[in-house]
Amino acid sequence: MRKGPSTRAAGFTESVIREMTRLCQTYGAVNLAQGFPDFDPPTAIKRAAATAISKGYNQYSTTYGTIGLRKAIARKMRAYNHIDCDMDEITVTCGTTEGMIASELALLDPGDEVVIFEPFYENYGPDAILSGAKCRYVKLREPDFRIEEETLKRAFNHKTKAIIVNTPHNPTGRVLTSQELGLVRDLCQDYDSYAITDEIYEYILYDGHQHVSIGSLRGMEDRTITISGFSKTYSVTGWRVGYVVAPKPITSAIRKVHDFLTVCAPTPLQEACTAALQLPESYYDRLRENYRAGREMLVESLTSAGFGVFKPEGAYYVWTRTNSTGFKDDRKLALHLISKVGVGGVPGSSFFHNPSQGRLRFRFSFSKKPKTIRRAIKRLKKFSPRHPVAHTNRCISPRLSVPAG
Ligand code: GLN
Repeated sequence: MRKGPSTRAAGFTESVIREMTRLCQTYGAVNLAQGFPDFDPPTAIKRAAATAISKGYNQYSTTYGTIGLRKAIARKMRAYNHIDCDMDEITVTCGTTEGMIASELALLDPGDEVVIFEPFYENYGPDAILSGAKCRYVKLREPDFRIEEETLKRAFNHKTKAIIVNTPHNPTGRVLTSQELGLVRDLCQDYDSYAITDEIYEYILYDGHQHVSIGSLRGMEDRTITISGFSKTYSVTGWRVGYVVAPKPITSAIRKVHDFLTVCAPTPLQEACTAALQLPESYYDRLRENYRAGREMLVESLTSAGFGVFKPEGAYYVWTRTNSTGFKDDRKLALHLISKVGVGGVPGSSFFHNPSQGRLRFRFSFSKKPKTIRRAIKRLKKFSPRHPVAHTNRCISPRLSVPAG
C-alpha cells in the first residue's frame, strides 16, 4: 500500500469558508460566505504599493518586517491598543493567519492544551492540531455570547498553555468587555498561561462598543501574543500582511518559525501598509459607518427571510439561527441558498468542534458594496421558509431579535 499523508494533515478537513467561495463562483451566487470586501482599498495605499514596486522594493525584506513598518505598528499599538511595545517585539507575517500558526508552533508542545471559545473561526482547530496541542472548547452561550466565569474556570488546568482570544468575535460579532477579559487574565495568571489574540476586526465596531486588547490589561504584558493585520481594516485581504506583538523571548521563537515558513511578508506591500497606518481618523469613522449601514440592511433582510438574527456588536458577520427555515441541515441549506437562491453563506457546523451543534446555525458576511448587498437582498426575497413565521421581531435580549413563533 502507498504511504499516505501525515496523521497531522489527516486530522482536519479543508476550510468550509473557502469551499463556499468556490461554490459561489461555480453557481454565480453573491458571496456572503467568505469575509472579504468586494470593494477597493483606499487609493493612497494602492498608489503606495505601485510606487514601492516601481521604486525597487521587490526583494526579500528583513525576515521579521521592515524597520519602517515595525516602527509604525509600534506607534499604532501604543495609540490604539494601549500596548507599549517596540519594534523588537514585532514580527510582520503573511497575514494574521500565518501570525497565528507561527505563534502556536513557537509556543506549544504536544500535550499542551489550548482553550478556544466556541463557536470559533475555523482556523483555530487546525492551528492547534498542527502544533500538536489539545483543544478545550468553552461555549459562548446564546443569546449574549458572554464569557461565563465558572465554565471558563473548568477549562483551565496545569496543562493549559494558551487561550485564543478573538475580539471582535467571528462568527458571533461579540465585542468582549474589559471585565470579561479580566476573567481570562486572572486564569492566565493562576495557571501560567498565555493569551494568543486574533484582533483582525479591531476597528469594525458598532453602537459605541470599544475594542479592548487583553495585552493592555495589567499583568498580561508578558503573557500576551497580540495578533492583528491589515486585511480587514484596509480591505486588502489578498495582500497577506499581518503582525504579531509578543515579549522578546517569545518573539525570538516566533521569528524563527516565521522565517522558515515564509521568510517574509511581501516587501512592496509592507511599504504600502506603512502608508496605511498614516491614514486619518476619518478613514476609520467612514469604514465603521459603511459597515454599520451594511449590517442594518442585511439584518433586516435576513429577519424577513425567516432567520433568527444575532445582531453583531463588531466585525462584519451576521450569525443566525435557522430553526424557522425548515432546513435541518446547514450544508443542505448552504447548497440550496447558493444554487437556487443565488446567495452564499457559511454552514454553522464549521464553527463547532462537534458539527451537530451548528446544524441550525448559519453565517453571512456583509463586507460588500451596498450594491452587492442589495443584490443579495433581492435574491433572498425568493427564499421562503418552509414553515413561514410572523415577522414581528420579539427582542429576547438587546442583541437578539428572532422572528416570533
Ligand atoms: N476570516 C475570514 C472569514 O471568516 C476568512 C479568512 C480566510 O478565508 N482566510 O470568512
